Amino acid sequence: CGIVGIVGNQPVSERLIDALKRLEYRGYDSAGVATINGGKLKRRRAEGKLVNLEVKLKEEPLPGTIGIAHTRWATHGAPTERNAHPHFTDGVAVVHNGIIENFAELKDELATSGAEFQTDTDTEVIAHLLAKFCRDGMGRRDAMHAMLRRVTGAYALAVLFEDDPSTIMAARNGPPLAIGHGQGEMFLGSDAIALAPFTNEITYLIDGDWAVIGAAGVHIFDIEGNVVTRPRQVSMAAA
Ligand code: GLU
Repeated sequence: CGIVGIVGNQPVSERLIDALKRLEYRGYDSAGVATINGGKLKRRRAEGKLVNLEVKLKEEPLPGTIGIAHTRWATHGAPTERNAHPHFTDGVAVVHNGIIENFAELKDELATSGAEFQTDTDTEVIAHLLAKFCRDGMGRRDAMHAMLRRVTGAYALAVLFEDDPSTIMAARNGPPLAIGHGQGEMFLGSDAIALAPFTNEITYLIDGDWAVIGAAGVHIFDIEGNVVTRPRQVSMAAA
């Protein structure tokens, strides 16, 4: 029930786990993290407490200076490692909090055009839609926008594309999502508390917003695709 992301200039996986710990108060049943390193998307996922994920990361570390991470409170699909986020499809990684209400209809449609689903979650349709739109020739930004126009429901989302190791895309409709401004690094989190060790300069997305985040800054759009500006504020959350 939490999302964090870092796009920066130093290794991210340990910092992502520390940020997830700051979201533990929300409750969760499983967790996962993905990074891009050497042009490859890799992930580790684990049922239960974050310590289980930490053990996996000790055994098999995930290098990389860009990554996303998630604590899951299952709504669709059992709380197993297989259903834990990030979901991977054809070089697209997705973490999601909330519920995609029209997932069954989208799943049928995608399965008809050949998509093979690996989980029982509502979330996986997002990864398949993005992968399909990219295969159809759309750029990543257009694919993100087209996907957001197809899904209904509540979401906070973070997305990585394997072929763009310098960008995290994010979107919000319902659950909160905060973007943190660092020194040569940018952060994403379900709330400012998760980001407090890294920065106290926060921009909150509002419902319908989506964002393209790079190490140097963020571009924010509304659901129509128009560029929007949201205030940058100083958070009082304690590190
Ligand atoms: N609906 C998604 C799932 O069950 C996300 C749940 C959450 O908010 O963590 O996997």
